[in-house]
Amino acid sequence: MPDQNPLPNPTLRVIPRDQHNVSRRDISPNALRVLYRLRDAGFGAYLVGGAVRDLLVGGSPKDFDVATDATPEEVRQLFRNCRLIGRRFRLAHVVFGREIIEVATFRSNSDDGSGDRETHEGGRLLRDNVYGTIEEDAVRRDFTANALYYAIEDFSVRDYTGGFEDVRNRLMRLIGDPETRYREDPVRMLRAVRLSAKLGFEVEAATAAPIPVLAPLLAESAPARLFEECLKLFLSGHAVDSFLGLERHGLLATLLPETAQALRANRSGALRRMLLEGLAGTDRRVANGEPVSPAFLFALLLWPAYCRALITLQSQGVHAVEAQRRAADRVTVHQLGMIALPRRFSGPMQEIWLLQSRFSLRQRKRVMRMLSHPRFRAAYDFLGVRLAASSEHADDVEFWREAQLDPEHAGLMQRRGADADPDLADGDDGAGDEGRPRKRRRRRRGAPVASGE
Ligand code: ATP
Ligand code: MG
Repeated sequence: MPDQNPLPNPTLRVIPRDQHNVSRRDISPNALRVLYRLRDAGFGAYLVGGAVRDLLVGGSPKDFDVATDATPEEVRQLFRNCRLIGRRFRLAHVVFGREIIEVATFRSNSDDGSGDRETHEGGRLLRDNVYGTIEEDAVRRDFTANALYYAIEDFSVRDYTGGFEDVRNRLMRLIGDPETRYREDPVRMLRAVRLSAKLGFEVEAATAAPIPVLAPLLAESAPARLFEECLKLFLSGHAVDSFLGLERHGLLATLLPETAQALRANRSGALRRMLLEGLAGTDRRVANGEPVSPAFLFALLLWPAYCRALITLQSQGVHAVEAQRRAADRVTVHQLGMIALPRRFSGPMQEIWLLQSRFSLRQRKRVMRMLSHPRFRAAYDFLGVRLAASSEHADDVEFWREAQLDPEHAGLMQRRGADADPDLADGDDGAGDEGRPRKRRRRRRGAPVASGE
């Protein structure tokens, strides 16, 4: 059993206004309103967490969290536009139109014997519902960079864990004993990778060291929470760096086990190239303010697993169309044990996969039907990602690009060029190299892919 009191003794360092760059100009006016009102009522009021960290590195925070010594009820009495949420831990939400300022009362992780905090046998934190001091609030946070407080009373930054130096040195460092903190909450391993990808930080050595060993603990975290964390990892504009971080720290094999296996088996690296290409495209879309979808993301992340499952089924003699359907189901079901991908995303994800083999079918009727398929555009974009990793799909991409512009004529065009089945060979050991012609697999073509046809 790990040490139950892994947290260091906090010592306060005050960084005065003239020694840091957190400026009220960069803080949401609504957050400032909340801070000032709390202070005027005689409470301590601080901006805390990701917002202070992001402002210190010159970024623009996506939300502003406030910490205070006022209880949730006291906060509610100060703001008419306030509602209390959370059963496990009560938080105040102060609502300004579409912006919500979350106001949390300082809390402690120490067991005061009230039974309000229970610890799981393996060291996992189940409840932490005890109010505390600002010092206690600081050390129960995950990383030192996330435990900085901007005080509205004198515009100083209060640092209890060495976070100010760590932000300067661009380090993600866990507060306290890393192994214990990961056992309390294994998602912190993903947060280490995600936040360092987002901020361009290194994971500090002692913080990084236990991750490859403890990675399997992630399987104990709630699948719904892991889904949310995946969206943050891959749909916040830092998907490539997040993916490389997961690989480097040995987390990929736990988070996406079948994809990790497929990537290892694919010696040519074509599948990994394709995946990285797709993630880079996702990052570009986020940077341009274009929408990104979880269905497309998971189609990408699980494509290697799908290709590999498909090969296995086909080598067992399962007919192509049936193999595609079964591979899609198998990969989805296996992955669901780890990450709760909601059905509204897994359905379209599978459609994106299954439509890939239809890009080779060019009879007029099929072309028209394909063009009007609700998932056509996503599937076509996916084909584009496959092209980026393998020139073999150039002919199909060209055909369908023209088909969208001029469906009537496209429908009459003759099919040219290469076999457009999914990258079967890409999933195979050693095969599927770029520029090298793939082994053609002879199989009946023209069979419908989606069910209901
Ligand atoms: P971002 O919002 O940019 O993804 P963040 O650090 O603000 O990053 P949140 O999930 O919004 O992340 O959490 C807000 C704060 O709550 C964190 O900065 C940290 O202080 C604390 N926190 C979040 N998750 C944990 C955790 N698993 N363990 C301990 N503290 C946490
Ligand atoms: Mg945040």
